Amino acid sequence: MTAVSEKAKQLRSVGRIVAPPPVHWVGDGFRVHGFLPHGPLNVERMSPFFLLDYNAKYNFPPSTNLLGVGPHPHRGFETVTIAYRGKVAHHDSRGGGGAIGEGDVQWMTAGSGLLHKEYHEEQFNREGGEFQMVQLWVNLPAKDKMTEPKYQAITNAEMGRFELPEGGYVEVIAGEYEDVKGPASTFSPVHLYNLKPKAGTSLTLSFPSHYTTAILAIEGSATLNGEKKLLTNNLVVFENDGEEFTVTADEDSVLLLMAGEPLNQPIAQYGPFLMNTNAEIAQAIDDFNQGKFGYLAD
Ligand code: MN
Repeated sequence: MTAVSEKAKQLRSVGRIVAPPPVHWVGDGFRVHGFLPHGPLNVERMSPFFLLDYNAKYNFPPSTNLLGVGPHPHRGFETVTIAYRGKVAHHDSRGGGGAIGEGDVQWMTAGSGLLHKEYHEEQFNREGGEFQMVQLWVNLPAKDKMTEPKYQAITNAEMGRFELPEGGYVEVIAGEYEDVKGPASTFSPVHLYNLKPKAGTSLTLSFPSHYTTAILAIEGSATLNGEKKLLTNNLVVFENDGEEFTVTADEDSVLLLMAGEPLNQPIAQYGPFLMNTNAEIAQAIDDFNQGKFGYLAD
C-alpha cells in the first residue's frame, strides 16, 4: 500500500439540493423538468454535463398520433437517454436507431453532426402507460467536437453490476464502480450509475474532488452524509471540497449518479448546437442550412 492510498479521504459536502423546476414539453412526447441548462444551476459549474431533462413519472394515454420530436440536428456533444419506464425509439440520418425500454440507455455521439428524431416506441404509443425518462447532454472536449457521429445502444443486461453487501446493487453505465466497469465509451472521464440500494443500505462513493458530482432521485429517497435528505425527483449537487460521500437509502431507491471531470473550455450554445465559439455556432447553422447534416424523413 502506498502512502497516498493510506491517506484518509476528505469528506465531500452536500451542496445544493434542487427541487424539480416547472415542466415544459419537448415536442408532444416528453414532459420534462429542465434542471439544466435553464434551471437554477450554472452550466460552467456543471461541466461536462450541459443539459438535464427529466420526464418524471407521467401516464400517457393511448394515442393514434406518434408522440415525440421530429427531425432535428445536433453537433458538438453526446445525448444520453435513460429509460426508466415506457419505451422510446430513435432514428438518425446515418441509419442509426432502435428502441429502448425499461432500464436501457441510448448513448448518441452527435460529434460533427447528424439529424435525429425521438419518439415513443410504436406499441407503447398506441397502448399508452407510465413513462419516465432522463436525457443528459454530455459535452465533448474541444478536440472531439467534430468527431464522427456514433451510436451506442446499451441494454440493461450489458451494464456493469455491483451487488451491494447490505442489499441492492449498482448498475454501471459508464466509468467504473468498485472495479466494475460500464460499457459506454466516453471522450472524457465520466461515471454514470443507477444506484439501486434497498431500504437501509448505505454506500460510499468517491471521485476526485474537482469532479462535478450530482444525484437525481428517480425513485425513493436517501440521506446524504448521514444528514441531508434527498427526496424523490430532486437533484443534489455535491461540493468540490473532498472526494468521498455516503448515500443511505431511506426506502428501496433508484438514484441516478453522474460524475465527471469538468472540461474547462468556453461554452457557446445555440439550440441543438454546443460548441466553444460563436464562429463555430455560425458554421454549424451554415452547415445545417446547406444540408450537411444529412436527410431524415418525418
Ligand atoms: Mn435530440
